[in-house]
Amino acid sequence: MPVAMDVFERLEQRINNYRDEMIQFQKELTAVVALGPDNGGQGEWARAHFLREKIESFGLTDFSEYHAEDQRVPEGTRPNFVVRLAGEQAHPAVWVMAHMDIVPPGDENLWDTKPHEAVVKDGKIFGRGTEDNQQGLVSALFAMKALKEEGIKPPTDICLMLVSDEECGNTYGIDHVLQSQPDLVSKTDLVIVPDGGNPDGTMVEVAEKSILWAKFEVLGKQVHASMPQAGINAHRASAHMVVQLDNTLAQEYPVEDPVFDPPNSTFEPTQHDANVPNVNTIPGKEVFYFDCRILPNYSVDNVLATMQRVAQEIDHKFQVETKVSVAQVARAAPATSNDAPVVALVSAAIRTVRKVEPVPMGIGGGTVAAHFRKNGIAAVVWSTMDDLAHQPNEYCVIDNLVDDSKVFAHMYIASK
Ligand SMILES: [Zn+2]
Repeated sequence: MPVAMDVFERLEQRINNYRDEMIQFQKELTAVVALGPDNGGQGEWARAHFLREKIESFGLTDFSEYHAEDQRVPEGTRPNFVVRLAGEQAHPAVWVMAHMDIVPPGDENLWDTKPHEAVVKDGKIFGRGTEDNQQGLVSALFAMKALKEEGIKPPTDICLMLVSDEECGNTYGIDHVLQSQPDLVSKTDLVIVPDGGNPDGTMVEVAEKSILWAKFEVLGKQVHASMPQAGINAHRASAHMVVQLDNTLAQEYPVEDPVFDPPNSTFEPTQHDANVPNVNTIPGKEVFYFDCRILPNYSVDNVLATMQRVAQEIDHKFQVETKVSVAQVARAAPATSNDAPVVALVSAAIRTVRKVEPVPMGIGGGTVAAHFRKNGIAAVVWSTMDDLAHQPNEYCVIDNLVDDSKVFAHMYIASK
């Protein structure tokens, strides 16, 4: 829907005035640590209580709760909740999903400031979680606050979903919500996940590659290196296998899709386990891995079948025995179409606020938007960030915090 510019300018002005309050909110949020039990923490409840109280103080009081049972944390559940600002009609609702949990700081010696005490410096807020995912959460929330305080009823419902467990697999977060509430998010709704992006805010992530980590264990026979004829050199066989895998996979999976960077599937030999500790022993066992990022049009099982075939050829040639197994796999969800209404909604808002041309893109690793896509719901990942997630000295650029909030405000009033 075309947006009445005077309405949007009022929202922009209001959001500009929130700048200091948003910084303060980021600081307070950073101090309420939310680490999942897999990361040695007590879960997200302290942060959930903090957020709920703050959100209520903004006059936003329509909450729904979808907590997931988890006896590893003191409360016995992991919090998930939705705050809704009712629109003229319910659908297509605009959903923004942000996660409450953070990752641990890592080696604190690598930090210039204390990770859980946010510090403002050079137009940035430094601290663990300030970018991942507090920036998106705060931006989207303050845009709702702006609508509320301007007395603007959005054309359709605005729903901010705050979830747990994003950093450790999503079982107690978005997966729980979508599985236990199959009708909560409708297939026509518009889903934005502000948990990834690029520094100028042009990247609208719509697709992802499958990830396959394949493990190869090549068994020969260990002997003294002066008597090679008595053994079977697993290292030689594995070296040939790596080269043949490299050639065959590139030949058989050549498709390029310009949405991705790089545009092709990639098959990289990576880890190689130590074999013998001395030079004069012929190794009887070699273990190596491939990290594969596979375009969504290819089946992961076909790639595995190709790997098995190559391994058998090398086994036959060198008299070794190879076991191919899956160390990790994440099958790509169907891509969100470039023509999906959510892509148009986000793109129009980016153009208006940031005066740049958005580009729908695919990425090489899984994102949480895939959990929506797997359920047939179009979803995009978008925000404006330098991408400091999980690094020491993580920061959020304050201008991004404020300007992304304006982008959300634009989406909220243009959903129909
Ligand atoms: Zn994140």
